[in-house]
Amino acid sequence: MSIKIGIVGAAGRMGRALVRQITATPGAEVFGAVERPGSDAIGKDAGLLAGLEPLGISIGDDAVALFAAADVVIDFTSPAATVEHSMLAAQGKTAHIVGTTGLTAEDEAALERAARHTPVVYAANYSLGVNILAALIERTAAILGDDWDIDIVEMHHRHKVDAPSGTALMLGKAAAKGRAVNFDIVKKLSREGLTGARPAGEIGFASLRGGDVVGEHTTIFAAPAERIEFIHKATDRALFARGAVRAALWAARQKPGLYSMTDVLGL
Ligand code: NAD
Repeated sequence: MSIKIGIVGAAGRMGRALVRQITATPGAEVFGAVERPGSDAIGKDAGLLAGLEPLGISIGDDAVALFAAADVVIDFTSPAATVEHSMLAAQGKTAHIVGTTGLTAEDEAALERAARHTPVVYAANYSLGVNILAALIERTAAILGDDWDIDIVEMHHRHKVDAPSGTALMLGKAAAKGRAVNFDIVKKLSREGLTGARPAGEIGFASLRGGDVVGEHTTIFAAPAERIEFIHKATDRALFARGAVRAALWAARQKPGLYSMTDVLGL
C-alpha cells in the first residue's frame, strides 16, 4: 500500500517538482494538491501543471480536508501558511514535512508544538550534500580557533523572498555549534557603510540574487595567509524534492517529534 502524500503550494516551483518526484517514487502517491485560496492554479490538473500527463487530481484550496485525509503533507509555501498548516497537522495527526524558509523563532515554536502530536520534519535544505557539509563545517569550526574568520556567501534566483537563505543560516548555526557559541550573538546578517574592522568570532553573511540560480553556498574560513572554502551548488530543485519525499516516507513510520534531515538520513 502506498503512502498518501498531500502537497500544499502544489503550483509553486517546489510544489511542481514534488508532484514529479512523488509520481516517480514507488510506494508513494500524490493524494491531493492544494494552493492558496484565489490562486490561478485552482481547478487545474496537478500533473499537467507539473509538465506530466494528467494525474486526475485537480488543485484545490481546502488544506483542512487534505491534512485530515493524507498520511503525510509536504509544505514548501510561506512562513504564515506553514504555521497554519502545522496546526492542521497536529489536529489530523498527519506527518508534516516542512521546507519553507524564513521562519521566525515564534513560527518555529508552532512547529515544536505540533511535533508533540505528530512527526514533523523541518529542514532548511533537503539535499544530502548540504547536510553532510553542515557536519563538516561544524567539525572544522570546532578545530579552528576564532582567529579564523567565518563568512557565508549565498546566491539564489531573483524570485527568492528571504535573505540570508535558510541554508546559509543552517551552515552558520553549524559553525557556531562547532565553536560552542550562541549563533544569535555572533551572527552578522549583512554589512554596509562604515562598519569598522571585523570583530573576532563574528559569523558573517552576504546574499546575492539573480537569474535562475537554484542555490549556491560558499562557506569561507579565512586566516592570515590561508583560506578554506566549502562550496555547494544545487543545479536542479529535483534534488530538494527527492530529499523531501524520502523524508515523507520516513516520517510516515515515526512517532510524534521534531526531526531534521540528519535524522532522516541517519547521519
Ligand atoms: P514559490 O513561490 O514558487 O511557491 C510557493 C507556493 O506556495 C506558491 O505557489 C504559493 O501560492 C503557495 N502558497 C502560499 N500560501 C499558501 C497557502 N496558504 N496554502 C497553499 N499554498 C500556498 O516558492 P518556491 O521556490 O517553491 O519556495 C517555497 C519555499 O520553499 C520558500 O520558503 C523557499 O525558500 C523554500 N525552499 C526550501 C528548500 C529546502 O530544501 N528546504 C528548497 C527550495 C526552496
